[in-house]
Amino acid sequence: MKPTKVIFKVKNLSKSYPGNENHYTLKDINLDITQGSTIALIGESGSGKSTFLNILSGLEPPTSGEVQFNNVSIWNSTEKERALIRRNELAIIFQSFNLINSLTVWQNIGFHARLSGKWDSDLAEQLIETAGLKNLLNRYPDQISGGEQQRVAILRAIIAKPKVLFADEPTGNLDDQNSKVIIKMLLDMINSIGATLLVATHSKAFASKLDIKLKLKDGKLKSS
Ligand code: ADP
Ligand code: MG
Repeated sequence: MKPTKVIFKVKNLSKSYPGNENHYTLKDINLDITQGSTIALIGESGSGKSTFLNILSGLEPPTSGEVQFNNVSIWNSTEKERALIRRNELAIIFQSFNLINSLTVWQNIGFHARLSGKWDSDLAEQLIETAGLKNLLNRYPDQISGGEQQRVAILRAIIAKPKVLFADEPTGNLDDQNSKVIIKMLLDMINSIGATLLVATHSKAFASKLDIKLKLKDGKLKSS
């Protein structure tokens, strides 16, 4: 059975942007995220999925309301405290991979885990094997395919053993075959480290494999 501890608590969260204060991208959202759950965030382009992920992962401040991670209000914390939570407990995967082009595949994979002191060579070896990246470790990101780049980004996130992994349309730039491989790999790895997953996706195949589906529409979050 999965544990039922609430790891993220979202309270009356609203977001509007300067210059357009009367339009709320997110309006009075409340949500409890249980540790170990996997959640698909769906909704049309422009519905606020990225905004929501960015606020929960500490990248972008809300206009009002609160986000608690393990009972700590991350937007009432100092920048330094928030940076530590981000570095040690959270990880983010983007649609555009966001690898560091001047570092090799091997260096990219270890980048976050080494920063947070969680580097584990046994785990790294095992995940590299699973991801089929063994022969690409000395290449640079521009010398591998998009699907391979996303596998590197996933490994970089997973090896740092985050409590929560955010993914913003991680298969958005990939073809069907690569998407399939990425989805399976990501879910297997999430399971193996027991992390919580919140993923914005347009892929029905992906969403159907997750515990919970939430839909953003008109600034509101609804079960779907
Ligand atoms: P999604 O990820 O679902 O496509 P976004 O969260 O990127 O949606 O955007 C939601 C809305 O917020 C859009 O209307 C977008 O134009 C607006 N928005 C996002 N970022 C900014 C910004 N930095 N400044 C102004 N408006 C923004
Ligand atoms: Mg988006």
